[in-house]
Formats: sequence, C-alpha cells, structure tokens
Amino acid sequence: MTFTLQNIIPVIDAKSAKNLPEFSIENISIDSRSLQNNQGTLFFALKGHNHDAHQYLENLIEKGVQFFVVEYIPENLKDKAHFVVVENTLKALQQTSIFYKNLFHFPMIGITGSNGKTIVKEWLNFLLSPDFTIVRSPKSYNSQVGVPLSIFGSNENHNLGIFEAGISTSNEMENLQKIIQPKIGIFTHLGNAHNEGFSSISEKIDEKIKLFKDCEIVILEKNDSIEKLLPSQTITWSFTDKNATVFGEKENSKNGFTNIVITHNNNSFEVEIPFQDEDSLSNAMTCVCTLLYLKYGTDVIAERIKNLYPVELRLQVKKGINNCSLIDDSYSSDYQSLKMALDFLEQQKLHQKKTLILSDIFQSGLPLQELYQKVTSLIQNNKIDRLITIGDTIGNYLKDIPNIISFSSTQEFLQQFNLNSFENETILIKGARSFDFEEIVVILEEKNHETVLEINLDAISYNLNFYKSKLKPETKVMVMVKAFGYGNGGYEIAKLLEHHKVDYLGVAFADEGIELRKAGITLPIMVLNPENSSFNAMIAYDLEPEIYSITGLNAFLKVAQQRNISSYPIHLKIDTGMHRLGYEPNEFERLKAIIKNNNFIKVESIFTHLAASDDVAFKEFTLNQIRLFTEAFDNLSSVLNHKPIRHILNTSGIFNYTNYQMEMVRLGIGLYGVGNSDEENKQLLNVSTLKSIISQIHTIEAGESVGYSRKYIANKQTKVATIPIGYADGIRRAWGNEKGYVLINNQKAIILGNICMDMLMVDVSEITCKPGDEVIIFGEKPHVKEIANVSFTIPYEVFVGISQRVKRIFFKN
Ligand SMILES: *Cc1c(COP(=O)(O)O)cnc(C)c1O
Repeated sequence: MTFTLQNIIPVIDAKSAKNLPEFSIENISIDSRSLQNNQGTLFFALKGHNHDAHQYLENLIEKGVQFFVVEYIPENLKDKAHFVVVENTLKALQQTSIFYKNLFHFPMIGITGSNGKTIVKEWLNFLLSPDFTIVRSPKSYNSQVGVPLSIFGSNENHNLGIFEAGISTSNEMENLQKIIQPKIGIFTHLGNAHNEGFSSISEKIDEKIKLFKDCEIVILEKNDSIEKLLPSQTITWSFTDKNATVFGEKENSKNGFTNIVITHNNNSFEVEIPFQDEDSLSNAMTCVCTLLYLKYGTDVIAERIKNLYPVELRLQVKKGINNCSLIDDSYSSDYQSLKMALDFLEQQKLHQKKTLILSDIFQSGLPLQELYQKVTSLIQNNKIDRLITIGDTIGNYLKDIPNIISFSSTQEFLQQFNLNSFENETILIKGARSFDFEEIVVILEEKNHETVLEINLDAISYNLNFYKSKLKPETKVMVMVKAFGYGNGGYEIAKLLEHHKVDYLGVAFADEGIELRKAGITLPIMVLNPENSSFNAMIAYDLEPEIYSITGLNAFLKVAQQRNISSYPIHLKIDTGMHRLGYEPNEFERLKAIIKNNNFIKVESIFTHLAASDDVAFKEFTLNQIRLFTEAFDNLSSVLNHKPIRHILNTSGIFNYTNYQMEMVRLGIGLYGVGNSDEENKQLLNVSTLKSIISQIHTIEAGESVGYSRKYIANKQTKVATIPIGYADGIRRAWGNEKGYVLINNQKAIILGNICMDMLMVDVSEITCKPGDEVIIFGEKPHVKEIANVSFTIPYEVFVGISQRVKRIFFKN
C-alpha cells in the first residue's frame, strides 16, 4: 500500500485527530484476533450488533498496533496509542477504501445477484487472467465490510478488478457502488436469498441495480421488467428468447458436458460447457457475454469455456492421518486469500503445531521480490512452524525462512516427502489450481467410509448471533457443548465459540471438559454432573463443578481442603420444579451455613433449570419456577459478600422468556440450528447435514421384496438403491418402512422396508442416479425435526444418536 494516515484524515470526517505523527499504512485490519496486526496496521474498531472491537484495543496495543480509527477513546488508553475519532468507523473504513480505490484507474467489473456471484467472479478471473492482471475479492467477501477490505488488495500493476457486491437489506448497495465504481455490471440469478431484509422482490431489484448506476454496460439474463429499470446499455442472454443479445440453443448434453450453439450479431458458434446443471449453464452464459463484450474472438471463447472448473467456495476442515487436521484451500492461491486462510488456520488450529503447504502465488500484481517479501512477513507473523513450498519460483524467494522445505512440483513432493512425518499438526493446504493440491488432500485425509456429517461453522456463528441479538449486550452466554456438542463435534465447536468470546462452556461430565482442556480450550467450563471421584481431576484441569447437594458440597470441600485451594469457583443448582438435580428449600439453611465465609470456594453462580420453557401452555408453571428461583437466590446470596451470576434460560427460555435473562443464559440446541417452535426454526440456519452415497442399485419385479422380514413387497418394477448407513449410525428404525425418505439429486427417495444395522434401501424408480451419487440423510431437508416427529422422539435424540463412527467435516464459507 502506498498511502498515509494523513492522506485519509480529510476524507473520513475525523472529529478529533490530534498530534498524529506521519504514518504510512501497510495493513488495514478490523479483526483483533488476526496475528497479522503489527506496527504497520491501521485498525478500524467496528461496532456491530453483538460485537464492539473497542473492547480489544488494549490487547492490540500490547501486540504493537499503534494507530486506530475509533468511535471513542477508552479512558485508560488515551496516551498509549494514536487515535482518530470518527462518528462511525464502518463508514470511515468505506471512505478510506474509496480514497484508496481512486489512487488507481483500472476498470472494474461489479457483480451482484442472489446466486452465482462468486462462481462468476472466479470463472471470469480464470477466463481473463491470460490477458489481464486482475484484483478480485477473495472468497465471497461481498459485504459492507468485505468489499472495502478487498479493495485494499489493489495496486498499481493491476489493470482489471472483479468484485462482488452482496446486500442483505435496503440502502447498502449505494455504499458498495461508491467503492467498486464498476464500469461493467453483471446481474446473476435473482433468487430468494435474503428476502427477509426487503418488503418485496421489486424493492430488492431496485436496491441491487443501484450497483449499475455508472456502468457503461450491464450483463444479465433477458428480463424485460428488470431491463427497463436499468440506466445503461445491456447485453442479455437467454436459452428461450431469441430477442436476447446472446441466444443459446442447447444441442446435447452428455458425460458431464453440454454443447450450446450461441448466436450473437447473426453469427453462430458452438461452446462446450463442462457442466450439465442449470445454474452452471447460466453462469457460463454470463461469462460468454462478458467475453463477447470485451471483444474476444469466438474461438478463444470456446477454448477457454471448455476448461471451466467447479469452484470450491469453502475452507474445509478435515480429519487427517496421524491425528492431523487439514484445512483444505486447494483451489486458490493469491495474496489476499492467503491472509484469510492464515486467519482461519489460527482460529481453527487444533494442535499447537502449524504447517503450511503453499504453491507459487499468481496474480498479485506485485514484483515477485516484493510479493514474497510480504508473504515472508505473513508467515513469520503467523508463527508457522513448518513451511512446505511447491513451485518453481516460491522456494527461491522464501529460502531464508527456517524450517522450509521446497519442491518444484506436487508430484515431486508426493514422491519424495515422507508423508508419515506429519503428526499432531494442523496443516493448511493452499495452492493455485494448476498445482492440483487436491491430490495432497486426498492422500493426507483419514480414510473412512463415505458417510459424513458436515457441520457448517458459519451457521453456528449465525445462530449464536441470533440468540445474542435477543439479549442485552452485557448478558453472559454459556454454551452447552455436552454430549460431543449435541453430536456435532466437541473441540472444533468449542474452538469456534472461544473465537466468538462466549463466556462459558457447559459439559455434562468431567471427561468431556478434560478433552476440551487437552485440545487447548481456555474458556471457563462448568460441569453439570461432576462425580465425587472426578473432583481432583476437575481441579487439575480448571473445571468448575455444578454442586447440587449438601453431600456433594461436603465432598468437594474435603478435596479442596486437602489440596489447600481457595476461592474455587462452583455453581449451585436449585430445584424449582424440574425435580432432577438441585437443592430444595428445606436445605437452604444448612447450605447457607456452609457457604457463609467459606474461603475454599467461591459461589460463582446460582441457577435453576426450567422444565417446560418450550411450551407456553405451561407459562404459569414456568413463571412460578422463576419466582421460586428468585426467592432462593435472595435467600442464599444474603450470606455471601458478592453477588453470584444468576442463570435460568435454555434455548427455548431465551426465545420465550427473554425478560428473565438475568446475568447469564445457557444456550444449547438452538446453536445447532433447531429451536423448539416453527417460529424459532425459521430464524435459524441449518448446521449439520448427514450425507452418504449410493452403494448399489437393483431393479426388482412386482412381487419381490426388500430387506429383512420382507417388509416391503413391490407392486411394480422398482429401482432400489442401497445406502451404507443404518441404525448403528443413529438412523432410527421408526424412520423406515416408507415413513421416511432421503434426498438424492434433490428428489425424495422413500425408504423401503426395515432399516438394517448398517444399511438402508430406498426407492429410486423415478430418479436419475448411479452408484456413488450423493445422498442427503438429513439437513435442510429432511429436517431433523421431521425425522424426530415421525420417529416419536425429539431432535436432541436424533443429533446425539449419530454414531461416532460417522466422520465429521467442518466447513466455513
Ligand atoms: C442441556 C442443558 C441446557 C441447554 O438446553 P437446550 O434446550 O438445548 O437449550 C441448559 N441448561 C442445562 C442445565 C442443561 O442440562
């Protein structure tokens, strides 16, 4: 970057910017957790719904950051760093990015629409990169924050920008237009995503097309009602309407390819698109239009389109061999996305040791010397323990980094490197497409059978924020990660929660807490069912017991005395009607006598559990529980010199009894995407998707049967697919015998006959499919809620029933 703080002070409406020294900005950051923050960083302290970065300034100063754009200066930090005060830090970030954008004069392509933005962006980058030096937004960085941050990736050597713009509510596009200033506009598919933020479809369209305000051309699928709203010239495409500028006629479609004859300006030519699904064909047509507009010859277009590839948008965390974890980012390698991937590595690292496998970096726009200088400092700041480089160039430039091993090609690495030397480390695999790093991933991945439970970490973050948005900012959140995170995964989720700075984790047994501590989790952890025999281990691992009886309390005190510890945090549970665990009123006097002036323990919190927070028919009962709790709390805390934290609400409690959030809540099932009412469910994102594949397909005749006890008898010729998942994996038998279904290629396939221990069979008579095709057991659809209803249980039981032999895969968009 080549600009200074002094350059931007006039453009960000600074309210106060006193006595600032000259400062040349090397890095812009909004993420206090990034290891890339240092002396060259200008940090923007953003304030969101659930998040205020001003809280972390002190920490950043300790790390060496000296310059901040803030909305207020925390009193104790006044003299410790340099602050520019503005009304709104997000706005200042956007203004800064506009200033930065205007230092360069290359044209921009701006992409919006509901689906396909990132794919079109990645494909255009691929199609145009032989002729342009392109800067583009990494991954799906398309928000009010993501777009400005992406802009800072530009430099004087770029001659084309490709940026996507995504909006979730009104009045956002205007800002993005000012930052991107596209000359070429692209409108991809208009779907239903983010409808909530808008009162109508037309409002959504009106908002989106603001991106095209100053475009010389807009490219879109033929649509008269949208075209007439556009201020500029258009290039339209269609498969059905010959009036479109570019008309595509599908010739045939086989072996994964679709041939399309394109007619443009009375001239026809054929392209072969390496996809068959509608979305990919639409996105490819958008790309063809863009190339035609840029005056590419039809032969070049056909040649390049033929090589389009599937875009993997997600950073995936996978279980690797020898207890390693892999972060698979094997499809892109540019400087911006390397920064993001390194932040993700730090966030998700499950082992102390961090390894990076990195290929040559393309498209940076920087001279190689300068590029790799920057990469070197990134690697050093991120404290990478071991670096493996692959490519002709990168190794030479990074050779001064300690612990580097270099190979010229992926094949050479796979042949010469002892792969078994990878052990207990987190490995980020990041390479440009041409290096085929997916081969490395396949080899390093732990082999397992094909059934996987995919867990969407972004959805977990989203759901957490949804519940937080119902709470006061100061209310603490304990997240229940008992039973292996409700079956979804223990430390991977705990790690994410630590990243989100929740206040407490809750587990059922000491062992679960010990596992989390061993994986490096440092958050306070409450244990719901501590056994007396585990008290010593709990103290050793800093786990806080729930104590629910006088006997339990005395037993704990005995251990505390032996170990001579003081003020050990404990949590007292009161029984107010659940009748599971907890003190009853007739024990309060004895309890008070013990906890009064007791130096061995500190009553950190007092709580109770609601028996029916999910059912408003029991409102009376619930309010009575709350009243009993409040009385008990006042009584017990009267003998203490401090006020313990009070907490009573679980997920449904947060939803139905928000007013009783007190100082803390205990969030469980909602985090994993399931609420206890339809109302609540609508506002959550699905977290886990259980997937398998088709093992074999049989065609049976009328009168023949399927599975044990001949429970299904065909009444006509039927195509039956076998899926390698059964009740030993947690699929309940009540879901079989035509009650339940799975999804194959987005179509329902009914389960035929009894579910077996390790397999089940489904009807695919009407579905085009083959062995190896993906099968969705549950996810968005069928939803666990539906499965639970049909099998006479609740989603909790379905989740925790998924066997540990099913491999968990965590991903992030
Ligand atoms: C499991 C549990 C919770 C969370 O309940 P959800 O209904 O999943 O939100 C809260 N508190 C206690 C004591 C629990 O055992």
